[in-house]
Amino acid sequence: MVFTFIDSHCHFDFDPFKNNEVSYLQMAKDKGVTTLVVPSVNQSNWNHVSRLAHQFDEIYYALGIHPLFITPSYERELENLGELLDGKNKKCVAIGECGLDFWYPESDIETQISVFRQHCLLAKQHQLPLIVHSRKSHDMVLKLLREIQPERGGVIHGFSGSLQQANQFIDLGFYIGVGGVISYERAKKTKMVISQLPLDKIILETDAPDMPLFGFQGEKNSPDKVRNVFEYLSLIRKESMQTISETVYKNTTSLFGI
Ligand SMILES: [Zn+2]
Repeated sequence: MVFTFIDSHCHFDFDPFKNNEVSYLQMAKDKGVTTLVVPSVNQSNWNHVSRLAHQFDEIYYALGIHPLFITPSYERELENLGELLDGKNKKCVAIGECGLDFWYPESDIETQISVFRQHCLLAKQHQLPLIVHSRKSHDMVLKLLREIQPERGGVIHGFSGSLQQANQFIDLGFYIGVGGVISYERAKKTKMVISQLPLDKIILETDAPDMPLFGFQGEKNSPDKVRNVFEYLSLIRKESMQTISETVYKNTTSLFGI
């Protein structure tokens, strides 16, 4: 049976993909992964991700500032982001990655909140979905989304959290991004949550080159591994593989309008 997949979150401008794009895209295609959405982390790679999308039909991109990549000149970057979005082309399909990360106690939470709030407003203004990174911060992300209500919703990428939190994001029009974490035996809680979500709210991702799957620890992750994520997802869902692959593919194209 032939399945087709989209890697909804792949940092394809990073090593080892840089200058090896053709071979990695081919490897992905050989596993049925036909399309990649490449988020950015801040102004330093906005050009790179948009260039990749121009160069390769398979690639779409997103523009944003990752909460752990906020620079001292973030206000200027946000202005530039607004200008870039004014002139965006149709391969720019989302704002991100952006969000909140309260993992490191020394991080500047107030600045993170202010930058994420701006992203939510830009998403509303430009009618784009958000690619959201949220770690130890779900309640604050929920609060900001409820306040601003970006209509196109988005995805909570690499989700880990409770079923209740997942459902709160879903109620706000968000999809749940599922990656290689479900390949690990120890991820019992996350697997339990993901097994219970509505299938039509799940999309797949690798977060490559990070987040290697079980059996590939210590290696760089790559977009062909979406196929493996799908196989692990199939193990914890009741639906057939055919239904799962078709549904998550359709979820991703409808979220990003591709
Ligand atoms: Zn990422």
